[in-house]
Amino acid sequence: MSEPDLKAYGDSWYAATMVDAPPRPQLAFDVDVDVCVIGGGLAGLTTAREVARRGWSVVLLEAGRLAQSASGRNTGFVLPGFGADADKLIARIGFERTKDLWALSQAGLDYVRDTIHAEGASGIDPQPGWLYVSKQDNSEEFVRSVGLLGELGCEIEGWPTERVRAVLRSARYFWAINYPRAIAIHPLNYALRLAAAAEREGARIYEHTPALSIDPTGVRKRIVTPAARLRADHVVLCGNVELKPLMPRLAATLVPVTTYVVTTAPLGPRLAETVGYRGGISDTDLADNHYRIVGGDRLMLSGRSTAWARDPRRYRGALTADIKQTYPQLGDVAVDYAWAGTLGVTVHRMPQIGELGPGVWLASGFGGHGLNTTAMAGNLVARAVLEGDQTWRRFTPFELVWAGGVFGRAAAQFRVWIKRFRDGIEERRATAREAAVVKVADQPNQEPQDETAPRPIPRSATGVAGRAAANGAVTAAARDAQPTSVIPPPEWISDAARTQPQPQGEAPAARRRRKTRRPKETAK
Ligand SMILES: Cc1cc2nc3c(=O)[nH]c(=O)nc-3n(C[C@H](O)[C@H](O)[C@H](O)COP(=O)(O)OP(=O)(O)OC[C@H]3O[C@@H](n4cnc5c(N)ncnc54)[C@H](O)[C@@H]3O)c2cc1C
Repeated sequence: MSEPDLKAYGDSWYAATMVDAPPRPQLAFDVDVDVCVIGGGLAGLTTAREVARRGWSVVLLEAGRLAQSASGRNTGFVLPGFGADADKLIARIGFERTKDLWALSQAGLDYVRDTIHAEGASGIDPQPGWLYVSKQDNSEEFVRSVGLLGELGCEIEGWPTERVRAVLRSARYFWAINYPRAIAIHPLNYALRLAAAAEREGARIYEHTPALSIDPTGVRKRIVTPAARLRADHVVLCGNVELKPLMPRLAATLVPVTTYVVTTAPLGPRLAETVGYRGGISDTDLADNHYRIVGGDRLMLSGRSTAWARDPRRYRGALTADIKQTYPQLGDVAVDYAWAGTLGVTVHRMPQIGELGPGVWLASGFGGHGLNTTAMAGNLVARAVLEGDQTWRRFTPFELVWAGGVFGRAAAQFRVWIKRFRDGIEERRATAREAAVVKVADQPNQEPQDETAPRPIPRSATGVAGRAAANGAVTAAARDAQPTSVIPPPEWISDAARTQPQPQGEAPAARRRRKTRRPKETAK
């Protein structure tokens, strides 16, 4: 491991555990290339690798250190899908085109997995699965979500409340959707591995080399950096929110949202007893409460996003309170690392991928769902530039839209607060309903229970499915509250990961296409 560069990467657990990576030089001489990629996050690195792989000359310019921004600071959940809800996409572009986009997003996930497989998993430590957990007992929504995701071709399993609480020891949780093919990774080490792979293919990478200006007119684009000039047939803009000094109008199409992440001190065996899932876990549609176990017995948790960046140390208290609210049995936890990262959110929640003008390409706006979509975009742009592939045009319905400047930021912040407030009310209602049912079901003379352990939930108490079962009816909800498939983790996933409980059961029968909120991305 190398010395952490705290200035570039922040006080992050990722920086503390980053693999050895040589610093790249600043560009100090003029160059002529086929393609110039601006931005050394995951979008830029994937693009550079895929261009080089096809035999063209490519230079990547990074203003600071590689993956110093969102790409090296995120929670590491590599999932299928996009930031936008599936139902909103269907309403806008229709079911078949949405399904096509989902397949592309899945290909992005597969690309990350295959790259790790080919380049080596050490330091990246991929863990299988993403569990999207509900804190509400609305199992109709659960059934709809499972049905729609299945129709979109997503491999998922519905988990009923009992199963969720057997794995995650929290009385706050009800049903969940498990994505067995998703993975959770160390994103900084993945980015550094990707950079090394790109260089092996012939890409040249320069750090501390911001693109200061671009002249996009003419066949050869001209790019000016502090100490050198480039000429390139194609420029690919992968600067995300930090593109502002270079292209303010383009950057104004993104709302910068900052999310805060903490990693606890080692918690010992009590953590595994409490959180029995090794992949990523999310329990809201918001940028709150996305967490996973890292480093054996530490908990990493992100949340509390703001539209204006703040000192991450201010959020240590709030984030540890979030941990305590979900898992009081963990007691007071100490935080060893606290950092922040900023992602760029578009108005339509879909990435910006395409050709802005002849030879000028954009791959940006991945929001909180960037680990699969940056991989997808890098591949689409490289194929478009080198092979004339037109698949990127499937994203043309999602145009560049001004994000509203300071008003857009304020609106984003308000939306988060309102949603958090409403979710809180719904959660309290669900808990109260459950407490009422448990009270009725409780037998007198029962042994007193461990206060910290989640209460056993009679099957009849688990939302609509449970209430229907109590009435003797077998509903679609009750049938679907079963795991739906068994997918073994890929062979290259570590042995520890394989010990994760695997589900059993049948596929859901219900296939409904009603208004559905797909468990959403957000800054995990
Ligand atoms: C806290 C947090 C948690 C997240 N969790 C998840 C998650 O679990 N799963 C998920 O899918 N997504 C997650 N995301 C989102 C994901 O990290 C991003 O969408 C993705 O990394 C964006 O990658 P990028 O390459 O577009 O941009 P960035 O990573 O922001 O990289 C852009 C790079 O361009 C460089 N640059 C900008 N301008 C210039 C210039 N003029 N010249 C040279 N270089 C320039 C910058 O220095 C920067 O390094 C999270 C984000 C955050 C912040």
